[in-house]
Amino acid sequence: MKIILLGPPGAGKGTQAKSISNRYDIPHISTGDIFRKNISEETPLGVEAKRYIDNGQLVPDSLTIDIVKDRLSDEDCKKGFLLDGFPRTVAQAEALKVFLQNKNEGMDCALLIDVPKDFILDRMTGRRVCLSCGASYHIKFNPSKVEGKCDVCGSDIIQRKDDNEATVKERLQVYDNQTQPLINYYNEEKLLKVVDGTKAINEVFDSVCNILGRDK
Ligand code: ADP
Ligand code: AMP
Repeated sequence: MKIILLGPPGAGKGTQAKSISNRYDIPHISTGDIFRKNISEETPLGVEAKRYIDNGQLVPDSLTIDIVKDRLSDEDCKKGFLLDGFPRTVAQAEALKVFLQNKNEGMDCALLIDVPKDFILDRMTGRRVCLSCGASYHIKFNPSKVEGKCDVCGSDIIQRKDDNEATVKERLQVYDNQTQPLINYYNEEKLLKVVDGTKAINEVFDSVCNILGRDK
């Protein structure tokens, strides 16, 4: 199973990705998580990516595409994978298509978590994340059991630096200009499926399972 999660920042991609990855036993590949790990480890990639991420801009395609190709070449991706936050531009989508075509493969589904703009600011400014395992919480809608600690791995949970109002607005603009065209792109590729992302987290997951199928 090879799945892309589409949707604006704050739609709930990371939240659903954790459940999908567990349910269907496929690796969850989040480019945002990969960049944040590199930033916290102060690698050259992290230093480069930070310049863009802190300003709400996209990391350049060339850098991002290479990272994803590398990750998709790992052994665990042979059984399928779930892409969260990639592709974000048509150039990334084209590069992914060519990469898979060269192996006589293709994506199975691009799943759009559809959420109108007026939900986003609340979701993102209330978001708290675990830098260690990538789990995502919300101070109102999905609080961790112990305040400030991750339910999954017990590490500290923090507010992302780019989850402030000004950067969120910038990211939404970037989404409109560069990522939204992918909805049409995957519609034309006959891969697009849509779920209503305004429902509660478990209801959204139920809709996702209806689309992906109840079997693994
Ligand atoms: P994305 O990965 O698309 O940027 P996240 O999965 O991190 O989004 O979700 C953004 C925020 O919204 C998080 O704080 C998360 O806990 C919360 N959230 C996710 N899905 C829902 C939902 N269906 N209802 C309410 N809040 C949600
Ligand atoms: P996310 O965790 O998906 O919200 O991503 C956080 C930030 O990482 C984004 O605002 C971008 O700056 C960067 N990023 C993540 N994925 C990509 C991508 N596919 N292309 C370019 N930049 C990305």
